Amino acid sequence: MKDKYLFGVVGHKIGYSLSPQIFQTISKITGVPCDFKSHDIAPRRFNIDFPEVLKSGIDGFSVTIPFKNRVAEYLDEVDVSAVAVGAVNSIGIKDGRVFGYNTDSYGFSLPLLKHSDKLHGGAALVFGAGGAAKAIVHSLATRFKMRRVCVFARSAVKFAEFKQCLQENIPSLNIEGGLIEDYDPQSYEPYDIVVNCTPLGGWNHLDESPLPSSFNWLAGKIYCDLSYNRGNKIVASAAKQALTAYDGSIMLIGQALRSLELWTGIKVEFEPVYGEVFGGV
Ligand code: NAP
Repeated sequence: MKDKYLFGVVGHKIGYSLSPQIFQTISKITGVPCDFKSHDIAPRRFNIDFPEVLKSGIDGFSVTIPFKNRVAEYLDEVDVSAVAVGAVNSIGIKDGRVFGYNTDSYGFSLPLLKHSDKLHGGAALVFGAGGAAKAIVHSLATRFKMRRVCVFARSAVKFAEFKQCLQENIPSLNIEGGLIEDYDPQSYEPYDIVVNCTPLGGWNHLDESPLPSSFNWLAGKIYCDLSYNRGNKIVASAAKQALTAYDGSIMLIGQALRSLELWTGIKVEFEPVYGEVFGGV
């Protein structure tokens, strides 16, 4: 173990991020000494400021919106977890070498493991086609063996890139869907799970919804939102319509602990950290 670790998060408009609190909690619970720094980088300055983060003596950091698809060129090695997903959300630095990982897929699966039977062979709707959505679709298709995965994006170009990337990585997968405005309940309902992989409904977009106006809540199904702001209106609405609803809090802690293990080899139990940060599952 080092005398002191330096961890961080890199993204834009990340003032809401709970990552500093999570790593302070880990340090308090385990005694692992660490400092944590949030790097809020304007997208136009990414190629100038990101290399400075890499040179800052940092041991590991998370990558969040909107940079998951921009870090690839800075990596010396990409771990199998990130190759499989086609996106990097976690970067570790050892002996000056830069390693890319994906821990979103692991974190996302945690609350769903107990629903595996319900998901197996079923249909999924995914809103958003960014870096986190890649991990989610990968998890739904490979870990939960879902038969039909339909993805909706706001850009046809991004949808096409997303589909090509995932289908190259998972040859048995045929991604359906397309533009959000073309969503048609007759073609895409019923579903077994809906996942919001956009920031809409989250901290910087509290009153916006990713769901098309023609979308219907179906009782007994599962809703997952990757945002972890308490009181998320879409999560509350899903729960009110008798869906099993999860916000992104379990995923957040899960991916952070997995990252810590990859960066340092240190394993930390989930429950105490979750309880301290969110007040219990
Ligand atoms: P990303 O790579 O930037 O992807 C964001 C996706 O949302 C893209 O498809 C983007 O479309 C779309 N989007 C952005 N703003 C939008 C808007 N105003 N209207 C409609 N679509 C919009 O980001 P990410 O890393 O995948 O993260 C996505 C969300 O998940 C973020 O809110 C992030 O905080 C959350 N997240 C949570 C966890 C967790 O542990 N709970 C982990 C990862 C991510 P374009 O490509 O067209 O811009």
